[in-house]
Amino acid sequence: MRPRRATRQIKVGNDRTGTVFIGGGLPDDAGNGTTPAPVSVQTMTAGYTHDVDAAVAEINRLHKAGADIVRVAVPERKDTEALKEILNQTRVPIVADVHFHFQRALEAVEAGVHKIRLNPGNIQDRDQVNAVIDACKARRIPIRVGVNEGSIIERRDKQKRMKELGAVFSEGGHKNAHLLAIMIAKLEEYLDIFDARGFHDIAISAKSMDAAVVVDAYTEIAARFPYPLHLGVTHAGPRETGCIRSVVALGSLLTQGIGQTLRISYASDHIHEVEDGLELLYTLGLRTRAGAELIACPTCGRIQVDLFTLVQDVRKALAQKITVPMKVAVMGCVVNGPGEAEGADVAVFAGDRRGIIYVQGERVANVTESEVLPRLLAECEAFQSRVLRGEARLGEKKVEIIPPDPIGPLGSGWSKFPLTVGKT
Ligand code: SF4
Repeated sequence: MRPRRATRQIKVGNDRTGTVFIGGGLPDDAGNGTTPAPVSVQTMTAGYTHDVDAAVAEINRLHKAGADIVRVAVPERKDTEALKEILNQTRVPIVADVHFHFQRALEAVEAGVHKIRLNPGNIQDRDQVNAVIDACKARRIPIRVGVNEGSIIERRDKQKRMKELGAVFSEGGHKNAHLLAIMIAKLEEYLDIFDARGFHDIAISAKSMDAAVVVDAYTEIAARFPYPLHLGVTHAGPRETGCIRSVVALGSLLTQGIGQTLRISYASDHIHEVEDGLELLYTLGLRTRAGAELIACPTCGRIQVDLFTLVQDVRKALAQKITVPMKVAVMGCVVNGPGEAEGADVAVFAGDRRGIIYVQGERVANVTESEVLPRLLAECEAFQSRVLRGEARLGEKKVEIIPPDPIGPLGSGWSKFPLTVGKT
């Protein structure tokens, strides 16, 4: 992991919603130093913004799932008219996504929105862009400048830019040299507009549906501009495939210290964008986990309980009940389980239709398969209470078991429950 790249810092939200800082490390306009903020997770509503009740419910649901910032589309006046009431009923910073109508941006600012997302290339009149910048500056509202591939690729100066800058990028072996060239050129052009107005509360995004383009574009932008970067793979598809595409691109950039905020985009329930964005940051150690970390074995021919069902049940219950970042391991047997669960605070090792439960290395129960879930959760909750009372510390003791633990003979248990996976 490379250290986070220092950037300017922007501030989204207020005392009412909570303030989310994005980026940091470089001095602000007054010359005061800033501290890099944790990487934040964003998502967007899928419903109509003008349907206030539905929008509020969706925003609150996404916020509850852990979204730091939620974006809403405001394509029509009725959407910006709904904003005031939405802002009243939510407690998370809201971004208004403006596409072609500068007036929507002005209305959103007037309604009190906390950030604007703008692609200056979609608003042809420079005076209109300036009007948005001035309105945001007056209210100290930051703007995300987006140069997504889809919105710039057909612009009329493409050929010129390809000629001028494509050669520069092709020397670096970029297969999409012309695209990178036009993205950088567009960005420079847009940022000049903001610079001329003395406006620096900016985050930049340069999304593409191609993970390689995303990595190359953000790497180039990070080297050229001092602004925090909003990472994303656009139109990544459903979660099943979009997850891989997004995590490869965003994970690569984050390990290089690039990226101050992110949105994973799925053609699925957007709650998964939040869950997977957070999990990516937890996995990279860029955010402190809120809740339990679940370790589970993939199962093999030694398995003797329905572990897949158990793991899903444990996962759902932990999400509801556990708020401290304890490690919980659900392992299929005592052969490799103990080694693989090393470091877990609470662990269960399954055997012949039974499970042995350990809390920080201490064996606390040997129960039947049906009792495993409630007992494991009870132990997790009891351990959490001890941690919160200061009587135990997370990760203090390791699971230490010398197998085999006498819970029954080991061997294949495939025939003991209706499991289809692996039976082909
Ligand atoms: S913990 Fe046991 S059942 Fe699970 S994968 Fe390892 S050896 Fe197989």
